[in-house]
This record gives sequence, structure tokens and C-alpha cells, in this order.
Amino acid sequence: MNANDFLSGGFAPAPESTDHFEIKKTYDLYIGGKWVKAAKRFQTTNPANGEVLSEVALAGKKEVNQAVKAARKAYDEIWSKLSGAERGKYLFRIARLLQERAREFAVVETMDGGKPIRESRDVDVPLAAAHFFYHAGWADKLTYAFPGAEVSPIGVVGQVIPWNFPLLMAAWKIAPALACGNTVVLKPAETTPLTALKLAELFEDAGLPAGVVNIITGAGETGQSLVEHPDVDKVAFTGSTAVGKAIRRSVAGTGKKFTLELGGKAANIVFEDAAINEAVEGIVTGIFFNQGHVCCAGSRLFVQESVADKVIKKLQKRMESLVVGNPLDKNTDVGAINSASQLERIKELVKAGKEEGACIWQPSGGVPRKGNWFKPTLFTECAQSHRIVQEEIFGPVLAIQTFRTPREALTKANNTPYGLSGGVWTDKGSKIFKMTTGLNAGVVWANTFNKFDPTSPFGGYKESGIGREGGLHGLSAYCNLSH
Ligand code: NAD
Ligand code: MN
Repeated sequence: MNANDFLSGGFAPAPESTDHFEIKKTYDLYIGGKWVKAAKRFQTTNPANGEVLSEVALAGKKEVNQAVKAARKAYDEIWSKLSGAERGKYLFRIARLLQERAREFAVVETMDGGKPIRESRDVDVPLAAAHFFYHAGWADKLTYAFPGAEVSPIGVVGQVIPWNFPLLMAAWKIAPALACGNTVVLKPAETTPLTALKLAELFEDAGLPAGVVNIITGAGETGQSLVEHPDVDKVAFTGSTAVGKAIRRSVAGTGKKFTLELGGKAANIVFEDAAINEAVEGIVTGIFFNQGHVCCAGSRLFVQESVADKVIKKLQKRMESLVVGNPLDKNTDVGAINSASQLERIKELVKAGKEEGACIWQPSGGVPRKGNWFKPTLFTECAQSHRIVQEEIFGPVLAIQTFRTPREALTKANNTPYGLSGGVWTDKGSKIFKMTTGLNAGVVWANTFNKFDPTSPFGGYKESGIGREGGLHGLSAYCNLSH
């Protein structure tokens, strides 16, 4: 692609190079430590320009079964018998190999999914490595993690992940599963399979025993075959609430364990006593990070009435300076929308927002001609009943409302089917306590937003899911504990 196809916000283009690694023309399934062909293939593209990056195998029922069998065999014969210290060594090795190839993983993540290289380089890849390091440390200390309990692995885990943080979600899922002695079949999302397949190459390099992790590619049907497979002992899913509900129905009565990380509609609440400039940065990070393709995105902004005009003016000024364009350019703040269908969904909800009477504002700059793009957008004059306030848009669109009292902010913030995350901006510690305990959300940030760490549990209430990932809570979801 030509760098001039993109806007660079007044900066000289500074694209990351793509000549230091290979994306193969085709990828097979990684099953039982071998690359296995499937009857069908599908394409994965670069959403920033529509170019086809690779053709990957489409796993049908037969291949899903093969992968679960391979995981069972590896569980029975090798992995469940290995000491924690030995499992930990593999995880440390994977973490280090990922760090060594960090640049390659960052570039491929950005090409396959559309997120800015700044984010894949500084957030996705380092955090993915951190998850392997963190769980490597626990592998031989599980009895200390859960004092008094007898700790044993669950068995074969079926994992299905989304397209918004493809590598990071793979690390979130695989690292704790392996640390606790389980084996894995993982299915990445259909628009972003490449970094999971590259992770399989790392597992080979790390000498991970065959079948301990199997990577199968495909779309919803492949995911469904995996989660419904009778020999899967636990299902771990991240994605939409609709699919999460279907999975919960399918595992009911089977005895399978499950964790579900679903959608969100987080409230980011700014009080008049907050440090306003910092809050504006936090609002921007909250909703425009990863084009708003973030389950915990701060997609609803609540501003105290007395400072609403000031905050919105500053926010608009800041949005004018956001660089929207080539995701591989190091100056880019907002990249491409992950798929044409996600772009359609964003457009539909934005249209509904206008029709229901909210007031739209977008910065003056344009977006590239080719590929999937949506300008950073905000809506004022929003009502609680508007679709853009109630439904997850999963795009760079912010719905702004005002409030007068903390109680009003809490009531409005909690009036949603979701309960994943939230944010509070205030100078008063007492207000932080009041708001964070009052918000019905699994994760609440105070005077910051979208901060993640492997030691910190993450997960939701209500329709945002069930179970936690990360920290001791996340670890416990991959063990049987008997007291
Ligand atoms: P999705 O739930 O359909 O897809 C997520 C993953 O589940 C993918 O790997 C997909 O192949 C797989 N899948 C689809 N149907 C399945 C089924 N019946 N059984 C098992 N696996 C299945 O999400 P999407 O269609 O890609 O996105 C739609 C909406 O979901 C978005 O607009 C957003 O609101 C939400 N979403 C949330 C997250 C999150 O991190 N919480 C991530 C992606 C999407
Ligand atoms: Mn892709």
C-alpha cells in the first residue's frame, strides 16, 4: 500500500516496516503438535486496506474432534503428570520467546486486526508476555495460592476468543490453563487468526509437548462444535453477550465448568472537582483506545453539569488532534474498524442515535479511502432510553450525559444490563470510595482508565459475564479445589 493513501495528522509518515517476518500464504490447523490440513479455507484480510493477508484452514466437526482428542491424550499422558516446576519452565520459555519476537507479533497483530501499532507494540504484546510470566510463576506454587485446598487440574479446556485483542486474549486464556495443568484447544476469531497461529510456532520453538495446546481456526460454527464437544471439561469464552448466553444454555446440565467474558457499556464519571485535563485524556483513552473495540470501553460519559461545557469543549479540541489512519504508522491514534460487518453495526447504531434525537459531533479531518473506517464520534443530548446509551456499539462512539449529584450519576450508571467496568474522576478520596462501591461493575478505575495487569482479576456482573480472569481469582477458574 502507498503511505500517501493515509492521512498522517500533519506528521511525516512513520510506518513500521513489514519486511522482517513472513506471513505464510496459507496456514493449517495446529493439532497434536502437527500442522493439519482441512478441507476448506477462508481468507483473513487487513481491514485498513482490504488486502488479503493469508488463507487459513476452516476446522469442521472432524478436525475439532481431532483437536480435542489430541488435547485429551496430552493431558492423560504428559501434562497432568508433569510437576508444576516443569510446566512453569515451558511458560517462562514461551514468555521469553514472545518478547524476542515482540516486533513481529506487534506488526502482524496490527495488519490482521487494524489496531494502531503503538497499541499492539506497547500494550498487546508486552501484556501477553506478562501473562505468561505471571502464570509461569504460579505453576509450582498452586498450594500456596489456595492455602488448605487440594489443587488439581480440570482437564481439557475449550477456549473461544474475539478479534479485539487476539494475541492478548490467547495469552489470557492459555497461560492460566497450562499453569494449572490443563490442556487446551483454542479457537481465535475469524478476522484475526494470525497471531494465534504464530503463537503455535512459538510453542513448537519452546518444545511444548504435542497436543498440550491445539489451535484451530474457523468461525462461529467451529466455536460451537468446540464448546459443545462432550469431552471438553471447561469452556472459556470471550465475545458477545448473545453467544455467551447460547454457550451458557449449551453447557447447562453437562457438568462442564465455564467462564464468560461478555460485553459492556461502562460509565466514565467526571466530577466538577476532577483534574479536568487528565480526565479528558482518560475519556479519550476510555473510548478511542483500539477504536472502541473494547468490552470495558468507557462508552458512556457522565459529566457533572457545572463543568459539562468545559469538558466537552476540551474533549472536542483533543479529538481534533487524534490521528486517524494507517495503523502501521507510529503516529496513529485511531486505526481501522476490524471488519466490514462491525463497521455496519457501528453505522446502524449511529444512525439510530441521530434518529432518536441525540446530537452528533465529529472532528473535521477525513478518513482514508480504502478499508474500514469510522471517525471518532461523540453524542450529546443523550437520554437513558436511547439505543446508543443502552446497547454496546463496540466502536469509537461516545454517548455523553450530565448529572448533578453523585446519587444521580450512580443511578444512571447502573441502569444498564451490563456490569463490566467503570471510571470515576474526582479529587476527593471519599467520593472515590462512594462511587466505586456503588457502581455495579467488576472493574472500576479511579482517575485512570483501561489499565490492565495480569495480577488483577477482570470480569463482569449481570450480562457482562461470569467468572474472573487474571490474578488469583482467574487462576482458581482453571483448578479443581477441594478443602
Ligand atoms: P461473537 O461473540 O460472535 O464472536 C466472538 C468469538 O466467538 C469468535 O471467535 C466467534 O467465531 C465465536 N463464535 C461465534 N458464534 C459462536 C457460537 N455460537 N459458539 C461458539 N463460538 C462462537 O462476536 P462478534 O460477532 O465478532 O461481535 C459482535 C459483538 O460482540 C460486538 O459488536 C461486540 O458488542 C461484542 N464483542 C465483545 C467482545 C468482548 O471482548 N467482550 C469481543 C468481541 C465482540
Ligand atoms: Mn484480518
